Amino acid sequence: MTDFLALAQTIAPKLVAWRRDFHQHPELSFQEFRTAEIVARHLDALGAEVTTGVGKTGVVGVIEGNGPGPVVLLRFDMDALPVNEATGLPFASQHPGIMHACGHDGHTAIGMGVAEMLSQTRDAWPGAVKFLFQPAEEEAGGARATIRDGVLENPRPDAAFALHLWNQFPLGMLVVQPGPLMAASDHFVIVITGRGGHGAVPEETIDAVLVGIEAANALHHIVSRNISPHDTAVLSIGSFRAGKAFNVIAEEVIMEGTLRTFDLSVRERLIGRMEEVLAGVTAMHGASYRFEVIENEYAPPVINDERMTAIAYKAARRVVAEEQITQITPIMVAEDMSEILNRVPGCYIMLGAEPEDGARGPHHNPRFDINEDALPIAAAVMASVAVEFLNSSTAGESAAIPMKETS
Ligand SMILES: [Zn+2]
Ligand SMILES: [Zn+2]
Repeated sequence: MTDFLALAQTIAPKLVAWRRDFHQHPELSFQEFRTAEIVARHLDALGAEVTTGVGKTGVVGVIEGNGPGPVVLLRFDMDALPVNEATGLPFASQHPGIMHACGHDGHTAIGMGVAEMLSQTRDAWPGAVKFLFQPAEEEAGGARATIRDGVLENPRPDAAFALHLWNQFPLGMLVVQPGPLMAASDHFVIVITGRGGHGAVPEETIDAVLVGIEAANALHHIVSRNISPHDTAVLSIGSFRAGKAFNVIAEEVIMEGTLRTFDLSVRERLIGRMEEVLAGVTAMHGASYRFEVIENEYAPPVINDERMTAIAYKAARRVVAEEQITQITPIMVAEDMSEILNRVPGCYIMLGAEPEDGARGPHHNPRFDINEDALPIAAAVMASVAVEFLNSSTAGESAAIPMKETS
């Protein structure tokens, strides 16, 4: 097989230039117009069959190999975050309040590099590679929007892979593991309504703040008391809004938060108990409530397919040493690649990209940065994974992944 790491090193300066350009011009979810245009032009120049406007701002490019064969989807996300950059980097964001604080600038550059390398080597592999440059991963509606627009049809992919740069892991460390990797995510909204009134006449009111505090307290007992210690769940209330004046008892409290789970039955139990707790606490005080789990913001857990993970592992071994490939305890962040992995077997890979002088800010932090030396490694891994799949899927063989201690 092509030595994709050597090939990726030859285009490393381009990868860095692309990444820095995207970094300077970050675009929020579903507004990736400039980014998409650059990607589409690049894919077009490589001779790919390009479709734009997929899921509003997504770009799809198909590169055919040397003959008929399977189809592999490689997905790269493009969106930035509503964060005010504070890195002081010479190529910092030129748009105040918007920042590539998760590394998706790097992902877009990596995808462009992979497309370039695979188009150069198309005589060496069968089938087709379908590139998806996805919008709105951060808002978690992007993957679903592209699926609605048919990204998983014509041609239908037989496998799907994606990679995230992770600046909390050492440079070059690769996480390739079967089974659960990232949690399911839910956004919930609770509105508690009491009866407002004069701060000096509490007996005529139903204090929504007090009911809200009791509800928040009771909700926090669900994970520790109603969920088995062998299961994993997080319930966090990130926003609690009520009241406008110091001497007025508030009529309404609005709470918003997130749930993280791996198991559908645990999620159902959590949501069911939340409903019961809210009904009980509000009834006790004569208040009422509305509880909504926002269905179209749900992201399922990322669960890697066993066979596809074995293929990814074999490909990763062509790029990095065995000691660099590891497994981790699944993390509670979410990722909407899971929408694709729910429909197409695949594997989500993480690659360490810790900056030389330490981690700086973590993901989504105003001081976030990545180590650009990770870019060619990532491009090489993704190109190798694609070719490994296309060559192996006909042979039907797969390598065993050595089990490692989770860290
Ligand atoms: Zn993110
Ligand atoms: Zn991200």
